[in-house]
Amino acid sequence: MMTKIGFEFRNEKRQKELRLIMPEELQSQFFASIYCRGELMDRTEGNPEKIWESLSSNFNNIQLVAPYQVHGTHVIPSSSSFALPFRPEADGVLIDPSSDSMASLRFADCCPVVIASDSPEPWMILLHSGFVGTAKNIVGRSLARLSENKPGWRSERSQAWIGPCICKDCYSRKMEDPCTQYALTSFSPDNFRKKNGMVYFDIRGEIKRQLMQCGLPCDNIYEVKGCTCCNNDFYYSYRAGDERARIFLLAGNTTKQA
Ligand SMILES: [Zn+2]
Repeated sequence: MMTKIGFEFRNEKRQKELRLIMPEELQSQFFASIYCRGELMDRTEGNPEKIWESLSSNFNNIQLVAPYQVHGTHVIPSSSSFALPFRPEADGVLIDPSSDSMASLRFADCCPVVIASDSPEPWMILLHSGFVGTAKNIVGRSLARLSENKPGWRSERSQAWIGPCICKDCYSRKMEDPCTQYALTSFSPDNFRKKNGMVYFDIRGEIKRQLMQCGLPCDNIYEVKGCTCCNNDFYYSYRAGDERARIFLLAGNTTKQA
C-alpha cells in the first residue's frame, strides 16, 4: 500500500512495520525500522521501556537509547551511557560503528527522518522533526554539526528516509499563534498556504527541501506517502486521537545484533 522505494512493508504478529532498505554499501552495517500501528505498539502505549522489554531479545539484549523528546535540535550518541533507564533530553540519535546500543525515537504526526552515509565512515542519524523541529531545521543543523565532526563528508554519498507524518491538508495552525509566526519566517513559502485565518504547513515538503539544501540528491531521498492522520488505520496520530500509542523508530548496527 503506502510502501515506496526505500521501504519494505512487513506485517508480523499483527504489528505493521516499515523496514528501511539500506543501500548496498550500508547493508551489512545498519538496520532501521518504523513500527506502525499494531499489537505491540498498542500494548506498550508509547513507553520505550515496555517496548524494549518485548523487543530486546531480538537484538541480542543490548541497551536502548530512548531520549525524552523536547522539540529541540540536540543529538546524542547511541551509547550505553545515554541508554535506558536514563532519558536525556534530545531529538536526535547518532549511530556509528562504535555505538554499543540501539537507538530509538517516537512519533504521532511528527516526522521520523533517517540519514545515513558511508562517507567518510559509516554513520546514521535518527531525527524527530515535527512542526517545531522542522521550523528550527533540525535536519540542517544536525548535518552542519556532523560535517564539522566528520570532515570529508560527501553529501552525494548520503541517503535519507522521510517516514510517515501528518500531511499538508491535515496540519493547520492558527495564524496568530507565535509558533506559527516563527515558522512563517523559516518555512519556504512553497511549503505553507494560508486559508481562513489558518496556516497549513507541509512538514514533509519542508524536510525534503532542507535535505536538498544540505546537498543530498533528490534521488537519494525516500518518502513514505500517505498521512498519519488520513491513514490512521496504519499509523498513530495525535490529531486523530491517539493520546498514548506511538510510531516507534528503531535503528542500530547490524553487527551488534544476534
Ligand atoms: Zn492527512
